[in-house]
Amino acid sequence: MALKIDADECVNCAACEPLCPNQAISHDENTFMIDAKACTECEGFHDSSQCVLVCPVDCIHPFVPFPPIQTAKRAKLYQQVVKSFDQPDTIFFN
Ligand code: SF4
Ligand code: SF4
Repeated sequence: MALKIDADECVNCAACEPLCPNQAISHDENTFMIDAKACTECEGFHDSSQCVLVCPVDCIHPFVPFPPIQTAKRAKLYQQVVKSFDQPDTIFFN
C-alpha cells in the first residue's frame, strides 16, 4: 500500500518531504505529491507513516488506484452482463 496527498487540502507547508525515508515525496510549483511506487508507508523504518503524523491538515490518505465498485453497483453490472449473453440479437465484434 501507498499513500496519496490530497492536493485540494494540502497547504504546501513542506513538513512532510524531509521526513520520508524513501524520498517518495516531491513537489512542483503547485503542490506536494507522493510517488506510489516509492512509498512503503514507512515500513522498515518507522512504526507509522511519518508524513501522516506531521501533516497539520490531515490531507494524506491511502492511495486507491481505482475507486472500489460498491457491491450493489457491482451486482447490477453483473446482471447486465449476464442478461446480454441471453440476448439472441447481441452484437459481437470480430
Ligand atoms: S508514508 Fe512514509 S514512505 Fe510513504 S510517503 Fe509518507 S513518509 Fe514517505
Ligand atoms: S505536511 Fe501535509 S500540508 Fe504540508 S506539504 Fe505535506 S501534505 Fe501538504
